[in-house]
Amino acid sequence: MNDLWRLPFEKVEALTFPVYRQDLPERSLFYTPGYLVMVNADYVDEFLEQLNSAHPVLQTARKLQDYGKSAAQSWEFQFKDMKFEPLCLTLYTSQRCNLNCSYCFSQDAQEPLEADLDIGFILSAAKTVIENCKKEGAPFTLVIHGGGEPTLDQRLPQLMAEVEQLVSRSGIGFFRYLATNGVMPEETAHWAVQTFDEIGLSCDGMPEIHAIQRPLKNGKNSIPWVEQTAKVIKAAGKALHIRVTVTSQTMRQMPEIASYLYGTLRADEVRVEPVFQGRRSGQGAEITDELAEDYFSSFMRARNIAGSYNKRWISTGVQLEGIHSRYCQVFRRVLHLVPGDGISACFKMSGRRQAEDKDLDISNANRTGVDAQRVRMLQSILAQEDAACENCVNHYHCARGCPDRCPHDPASSGEDGLRCRINRLMTTAFLQERAEALKPYLHHYPTAGCTLRGGQS
Ligand code: SF4
Ligand code: SF4
Repeated sequence: MNDLWRLPFEKVEALTFPVYRQDLPERSLFYTPGYLVMVNADYVDEFLEQLNSAHPVLQTARKLQDYGKSAAQSWEFQFKDMKFEPLCLTLYTSQRCNLNCSYCFSQDAQEPLEADLDIGFILSAAKTVIENCKKEGAPFTLVIHGGGEPTLDQRLPQLMAEVEQLVSRSGIGFFRYLATNGVMPEETAHWAVQTFDEIGLSCDGMPEIHAIQRPLKNGKNSIPWVEQTAKVIKAAGKALHIRVTVTSQTMRQMPEIASYLYGTLRADEVRVEPVFQGRRSGQGAEITDELAEDYFSSFMRARNIAGSYNKRWISTGVQLEGIHSRYCQVFRRVLHLVPGDGISACFKMSGRRQAEDKDLDISNANRTGVDAQRVRMLQSILAQEDAACENCVNHYHCARGCPDRCPHDPASSGEDGLRCRINRLMTTAFLQERAEALKPYLHHYPTAGCTLRGGQS
């Protein structure tokens, strides 16, 4: 890859929709979420006039306008209108875990575990979400996740059967997702592949990495279990989605990790996240801000390996395919129940006690549902923008350093952290990559454009 990804994208001023511009030798790029245009340098002024026009004759300018206006509208809908009628129910049913991950951000070993989620509480929440889905004609999404390992909860088969009954009575679609560490008996893995539409498996890479980062409670390596579960998922014909946490110790090994995950485990898609600044990540796992370029170049090499398998290696913090911001549940229309029968505004809370301590529990006074006023108050805090984000090319698709940077936690404030730096590098590189395919068109036309979900015009 050349060095052009180092050149910044600047926001084009005086437009009523978002467009970002990067000037390269002999050409310029114009980008809005979903659409990219390359313009010959001697045609840029004319193109800007077209962009400003109410009815551009040039198709590429018209499309840039349409995509830009649609991105701005989606943003308003998700983050300004702030409707909180959840269409997804996420459950951390218990805090029990069979691993002892070196960077765990969940419970501390010294703290007593919180009570498992009550089944009646879950079913009542499921009914609320199902009603919202019916109203909007949307499918119901159930996510079983962990503030521990969810398959350790023996009540899961009963719970899934009861929710299944509720959904089938309502006549709407049902999408079931399980996030697991993969450490489970083989028969549980068979049950899981038959029960869930999609399973996300956490795996940080080769056996030697797993031995250190994700050991069993007894100190042994958990990788044989993970490999077994991956095999069961593949044998059932399901896509294997893997989530990798990258630490300072594994950051430069991303290409080898990719080879292992695609070659040995036969992964279909891998999502990559730098380790959160958690309770234990201070113990040498954390990646410091100045390592952003090293992280980026290792990520891109791993991505090339994924490409050689015709698979995707994705960064979770910046996703050009959609409109997104921080991971707060109060913006994603997710009702998130946590052990201790709490309702959390934040994905990172592993239990009610923690959510209450951080002032992120959104239960109402009699604990039967959500406190709407509190949700609105949190939404207005969590929607706050850093000045740097306002004009950034990633404005419409960046997690804004979450969870390391959180507007609700003043101690975590600060700009230009690791995640921000990585996200800017990645977006510029991804756009450069797509722009390469447009170059030949500029021999015949003054502009060439492509959508960022495949097609080209
Ligand atoms: S850490 Fe803060 S910004 Fe991130 S999801 Fe939680 S509440 Fe939202
Ligand atoms: S956090 Fe950084 S990359 Fe993300 S929108 Fe803000 S300035 Fe841009």
